[in-house]
Amino acid sequence: ERIVTASADDVERAAEAALRPKRLDEFVGQPVVRDQLSLVLQAALARGAAPDHVLLSGPPGLGKTTLAMIIAGELGTSLRVTSGPAIQHAGDLAAVLSSLEEGEVLFIDEIHRLARPAEELLYVAMEDFRVDVIVGKGAGASAIPLALPPFTVVGATTRSGLLPAPLRDRFGFTGHLDFYDAADLERVILRSAGLLGVELQHAAAHEIAGRSRGTPRIANRLLRRVRDWAQVRGDGRLDLAAARAALEVYEVDPVGLDRLDRAVLDALCRRFGGGPVGLSTLAMTVGEEPDTVETVAEPYLVREGFVARTPRGRVATPLAWEHLGLTAPTGVPG
Ligand code: ATP
Repeated sequence: ERIVTASADDVERAAEAALRPKRLDEFVGQPVVRDQLSLVLQAALARGAAPDHVLLSGPPGLGKTTLAMIIAGELGTSLRVTSGPAIQHAGDLAAVLSSLEEGEVLFIDEIHRLARPAEELLYVAMEDFRVDVIVGKGAGASAIPLALPPFTVVGATTRSGLLPAPLRDRFGFTGHLDFYDAADLERVILRSAGLLGVELQHAAAHEIAGRSRGTPRIANRLLRRVRDWAQVRGDGRLDLAAARAALEVYEVDPVGLDRLDRAVLDALCRRFGGGPVGLSTLAMTVGEEPDTVETVAEPYLVREGFVARTPRGRVATPLAWEHLGLTAPTGVPG
């Protein structure tokens, strides 16, 4: 796994648990979503009713799970967690729904990956607080409606565009999480350092923030690696020198590019004169599968303006040439 990936495995999620903000006012950044959500929650609390269903959309590692936990915490209720891929059959979802207690929050991660029958069952449950339990098989089967207590679904998706409109319409509130700016990431990192009980200098936090690709999960991961370095190879201090040295060991450069990202840029500029070059040729040159280049390296390179996708292939921008310390041939479009 790359150190700058925005996804996390179970071991990492366990390490993250201690760093999760528990209340809305501890949640750093995303002022718009925080404000909107605060209103939804306060109104529901004042009415003594379950709030509307909430959809959170945005790239991985920006805090969707954290916000779901915060929602349950702020409402003083418990959170039940499942995910689109974990629900194989509509019956699995019916079982989860029928075990919900009044006011509970049901978090469905990757909700865009629910199978169609489960999705249809969810519409009804969200709208009418009812599941139809199917009894019997074939022609003799019948649906027995089972009333559910009021509850709130918090759905998370990295691709809100993939959600069918009827499902999207069942959410009373949608919060869009965006990449964090460097100042907010710095606050995330300083907060995490405090929770880890390490003293982190501001300059080091600034340095880590700049390399974290706008993503708190990556920021927290890089912080842990800097802490390792300071403990094993440094004098225990988490200062700028320690941050730089640690991130050099992990080959994360000053703007957060790793070895694969740089290999892609290098191939584009040095081998193909800046492109355009097709994805499969580019992937072969860096020794990766086209899918890896497209889904792992490219999104950030495109987002940060190092690479442009054109109908004729991938093109290096002047920023890419500059980043590699090369001079762009004249006529490279800006
Ligand atoms: P995924 O979809 O991959 O599960 P996610 O969007 O749900 O990602 P989280 O698991 O909520 O992301 O967050 C990842 C890590 O980043 C957690 O350790 C969390 O504590 C931290 N984090 C995320 N957002 C914030 C924030 N606004 N303030 C402080 N820490 C944050």
